[in-house]
Amino acid sequence: MDLGLNGRVAVVAAASKGLGRAVAEELSREGAHVAICARTPGTLAETAAQITKSTGREVFHQALDVTDSTAVAAFVAVVEARFGRTDICVTNSGGPPSNTFKNTKPEDWRSAVDQLLMSTVFFARETLPRMQKNKWGRLITITSSAVKQPVDGLLLSNSVRAAVTGLARTLANEYAADGITVNNVCPGYTRTARLDGLASTISARTGAKPEDVFASWEREIPAGRLGTPQEFAAVVTFLASERASYVTGASIAVDGGLVRSLL
Ligand code: NAP
Repeated sequence: MDLGLNGRVAVVAAASKGLGRAVAEELSREGAHVAICARTPGTLAETAAQITKSTGREVFHQALDVTDSTAVAAFVAVVEARFGRTDICVTNSGGPPSNTFKNTKPEDWRSAVDQLLMSTVFFARETLPRMQKNKWGRLITITSSAVKQPVDGLLLSNSVRAAVTGLARTLANEYAADGITVNNVCPGYTRTARLDGLASTISARTGAKPEDVFASWEREIPAGRLGTPQEFAAVVTFLASERASYVTGASIAVDGGLVRSLL
């Protein structure tokens, strides 16, 4: 299948590691001009160079924090000036820490809203009007299987990501007539640095060994194993493509069957 991504311009947020990085690499491999951001300049530059080495295409990169609206606006403007258009935007950020309700302070809630919801709003505000001009666009949010089935211990993620899902569904309705699709992609347990960190937190709290934490997750998953960032990226890349033109407003789990719901 020709995905029709050759020459498309894609912004991928929070993409120096993990899921964002895998998405950036897959889009680049399919022929898109890719621009990535993350906070740590060294890791970001290294990732851009590694993707270029593996795909043969230059990857533009700029260090920024996705919670900073001015920095996001400047980044998208530079990408547009460099490549002449903005076709695809994949929103992403780090995940909020695991905690109980009792130990979560008001500032933790505000920070999770900035990290998950407002970062998505900032990228949508900058990219949707540019896509609208060309009557073609793809906005894809990286959320979590938690929007379909809350994950124990991930209070902030379970709560705030629901708002991102509501935002995306609303934008899908508002922008469909402009040839723009908006979808959420919801990872289950996928082997990245974030998941290693989560296993260590649970291990410190419960005394279980990290490998036992991973084994307990695997027992929950019908596929019997964790996902890979590449399996996740393949679904995002399809949604970003010409071929996914009639898929909008969807929240698609990439979770090995973890979520037990019918829809
Ligand atoms: P990861 O391996 O920790 O990578 C996170 C990436 O985001 C890094 O490149 C990081 O670089 C960047 N980042 C973090 N905070 C940022 C900020 N404020 N501004 C700009 N860049 C930022 O995480 P991941 O596993 O890929 O997860 C990505 C998202 O999916 C997270 O929200 C996570 O909670 C969610 N998720 C993951 C899984 C899973 O199993 N992996 C499952 C469900 C949901 P810097 O630190 O240098 O900024």
